[in-house]
Amino acid sequence: MTDRTDNPTAEVLSIGDEIVNGRLLDTNSQWISRQLEDLGVRVLYHGAVGDDLPAMVAVFRQAIARSDYVVATGGLGPTADDLTRSALAEAHGVALREYSEAVRAIEDFFHRRNRPMPEQNRLQAMFPAGSQMIANPRGTAPGIDLEISRPDLPPCRFICLPGVPVELYEMWPEVEARLRASGLGTDYILHQDVKCFGAGESQVESMLPDLIRRGRDPLVGINASQNIIILRITTREKSEDICRAKVEPVLQTIRECLGNLVFSTDGRELQDVVTDMLSQRDWRLAILESDTGGMVSDWITQTKRGPSVLSASWVLPTAQPWQDELGTNDDPQHAAEAAREWIQRFGLLAPADIILAALPLESQDGEIWKFKVAVLRLNPPALRVRQISFSVHPAYRRVTVGKHMLNTLRLWLSETAPEN
Ligand code: ATP
Repeated sequence: MTDRTDNPTAEVLSIGDEIVNGRLLDTNSQWISRQLEDLGVRVLYHGAVGDDLPAMVAVFRQAIARSDYVVATGGLGPTADDLTRSALAEAHGVALREYSEAVRAIEDFFHRRNRPMPEQNRLQAMFPAGSQMIANPRGTAPGIDLEISRPDLPPCRFICLPGVPVELYEMWPEVEARLRASGLGTDYILHQDVKCFGAGESQVESMLPDLIRRGRDPLVGINASQNIIILRITTREKSEDICRAKVEPVLQTIRECLGNLVFSTDGRELQDVVTDMLSQRDWRLAILESDTGGMVSDWITQTKRGPSVLSASWVLPTAQPWQDELGTNDDPQHAAEAAREWIQRFGLLAPADIILAALPLESQDGEIWKFKVAVLRLNPPALRVRQISFSVHPAYRRVTVGKHMLNTLRLWLSETAPEN
């Protein structure tokens, strides 16, 4: 087999009218990209093309010319609009051949269901000459594995899999084994996510020295999702230990520069961190939510320790009743008293050590939103009220309020060491 490059690139293609016309969300590309990334292949391109032979041939030719690995899904069915086999044969300039092992596999598939194989399904046993079949234990469409030589370049490995996600997932271990045998996946690849809350993407980036730069090793990428900023550190070495040793100083620099904006480096979300901290202290939490639709309680109950940590939650559609309780007096001491009264009213139902409450959300102009988060420890009494202001698209307002509530509790807990 011809030598492959040290830094192979890949392209993931989705075939089908329903993808390009917006009827179907292409989840296959996302899934395959993650598998390829774990094998150390950099996915440089995603593409989608409708069921049209000339268009598919052009897209396949382009992919073959520019990518070392191509994985295409869809278009392997038995009907006239399933053109992947023909398009690949034409793009590579070879004929389609019927593979007897594929005919047997398809006949077997029908036999197991006590049905004769419809003649139409023979089409699925046609392969571009020179390709290998990839067995499909769950469907009639076998996959195609074709190595295509290229002048002055290592060969391109072109894999076609059926579009049905469950079939593709089951076939992947076989594909992965073949790709590993071709030399992929020998290195250990470490990805470590540093999750931050409390500053925007550009602010976080400006607080870091020149870490986020292409070509750096370890590579540090940054992205934002629902107010959480994720710094993804990636490196690749012969072993996990070497990777960890390389990543450690980067992690330390990030921690030093970002301080308590960082809430996790091990994949945990804010709600996991908070419930772990409460559980360490053996504290039970009561939540008073408004303007969030109960999101915070829902997040918490979905964590590992949440069900044992959460003693009760009250979800108010708006903060009005709470506002009425507080009146116009926004003195924190008054808020604490009001919260205590509320909790006492529910106290028999909810023995809690700590209360997390969002005070009414207000905006003068609909652009900047303000609210207070109160963290109240009942015994010994202690209160922290944090004024939060934020500006966000209305679609993210509830989530932002919820994350600020959790983050305020996290900050308060991190300043309060667990008592042993
Ligand atoms: P089969 O012969 O097993 O149906 P196929 O290769 O012909 O496989 P398609 O006809 O292209 O696959 O797609 C079958 C179904 O698989 C689609 O109707 C859709 O539900 C799902 N599917 C196809 N492509 C994708 C994709 N990129 N992401 C998610 N689902 C997909």
